[in-house]
Amino acid sequence: MTRTDPRAWLEERHALADAARQIPWTVGEVTEYDYDGAQRPQAAVMSSSHGPITWDDHAGDVFDPPDAAFISDARSSVPAMAAALTAVLDLHPDVHGECHMCSDERGPKPFPCPTRRAVEAALGGEG
Ligand SMILES: [Zn+2]
Repeated sequence: MTRTDPRAWLEERHALADAARQIPWTVGEVTEYDYDGAQRPQAAVMSSSHGPITWDDHAGDVFDPPDAAFISDARSSVPAMAAALTAVLDLHPDVHGECHMCSDERGPKPFPCPTRRAVEAALGGEG
């Protein structure tokens, strides 16, 4: 597995969030539609000024209400989580190959420190 650079990953998340519409997203009205003879609930992701973010094409799972709730929540929660993780990384900088935040009685830990490795592992890297 390749090493994940958490800062590059976070910068990509910030860029995606910045490029998206800068207004809150919500779940639209849940309606039922006929899908192969069964009534299935559907809901679009909505913005307050532009209407639907997703579109009703009766494709099924894309508009499942829990999926719509997750997508609309991600609009605000992903940037908040990226900011929180950036703050954690800011507390554990590489200072000449060491992390002084992770010091113990023997001194600073080599960089990447345990915190940095844990973040990398959570993002799918080697950690
Ligand atoms: Zn550290």
